[in-house]
Amino acid sequence: MNNQNRVYNFSAGPSMLPLDVLESVAQNITNYGGSGQSVMEMSHRSSEFETIIAEAESTLRELLRIPDNYKVLFLQGGGTLQFAMVPLNLLRNSRKADYIVTGTWAKKAAEEAAKFGDVKITASSEESTFTYIPEVQKQDFRPDADYVHFTLNNTVYGTRFPYIPDTGDIPLVCDMSSCILSEEIDVSKYGMIYAGAQKNVGPAGVTIVIIREDLIGFASKSIPTYLDYKIHADNDSMYNTPPCFGIYVAGEVFKKIKAEGGIAAIEKINIEKANKLYDYIDGSDLYKCPIVKKDRSLMNVVFITGDANLDKKFTSEAKAAGLYNLAGHRSIGGMRASIYNAMPAEGVDELIAFMKKFESENRG
Ligand code: PMP
Repeated sequence: MNNQNRVYNFSAGPSMLPLDVLESVAQNITNYGGSGQSVMEMSHRSSEFETIIAEAESTLRELLRIPDNYKVLFLQGGGTLQFAMVPLNLLRNSRKADYIVTGTWAKKAAEEAAKFGDVKITASSEESTFTYIPEVQKQDFRPDADYVHFTLNNTVYGTRFPYIPDTGDIPLVCDMSSCILSEEIDVSKYGMIYAGAQKNVGPAGVTIVIIREDLIGFASKSIPTYLDYKIHADNDSMYNTPPCFGIYVAGEVFKKIKAEGGIAAIEKINIEKANKLYDYIDGSDLYKCPIVKKDRSLMNVVFITGDANLDKKFTSEAKAAGLYNLAGHRSIGGMRASIYNAMPAEGVDELIAFMKKFESENRG
């Protein structure tokens, strides 16, 4: 196998997957577990695939300690379709929903929901280019809101909520697209969690939804069938053909995390990787992280030199050194190193070594 020339890929997503998972998938690509077929060719109603999806769900339940009164769904359409499915299903009484806007994706989620109901932006950090996470108290939410939505980790701006908003009895809905499985969470604090797979979970094309059972069954009969959580919950994510191959790879990633000590173990490594990088940036003369310290993301580390031309030079020289996709999001520029679960600690070390070299060559 050609693993010699693999680069460190700091892409915000799709991003790196664990090499040993890729290798085991490659070994099984034409003949999965002696079945004589690729998972890509298998009927989703076959006993082999039923085992694959059931094991993926049970391993995920174990990793996140998902309580029994929550359904786990494997859907399609990415985080973006959830921006619509959430309001279509959860606006069920007052048709009011409160959103905390801490970045591009949170804003898109709020704008989508506003098509279907009365959306209030409870707090936003847009006035400061989303460089911090606003403090929000229980009394800031409308008491009759059907749900409150927030984004735990903001992929574009490199921030992360250092606290879970207290919404009292109002169901809390969280977009965890760029941090699911990276840190311990208490699922029981949420009404619903969703995440696209393509950062910490597997290939793009699978979306994980974890939803409390009492929130299912309120969608209007007039919406497209696929958009109703109930149809997926009643059919164990097999109402129609699920993203079979993606679910298989995700299941392999779940098994690997479990075998290596679960979420607590990977969280410890993630904290070490992020701290090392932030410490170097904070101590350097050339680079600056614009994010308030306590709100910094463990997954997406944003930094700038303050000179757009130098930033461009940085990303192109980094690429030549085998460090890929370090350009910041097209909306803000600068640099962003996405260091999801599958980025090895050595990748972060190599990045820091490159940054030091670049700093010494380009210091004013
Ligand atoms: N939410 C967050 C936090 C994201 O980072 C992204 C994509 N990067 C999305 C939602 C949109 O996800 P998708 O492209 O899967 O629709």
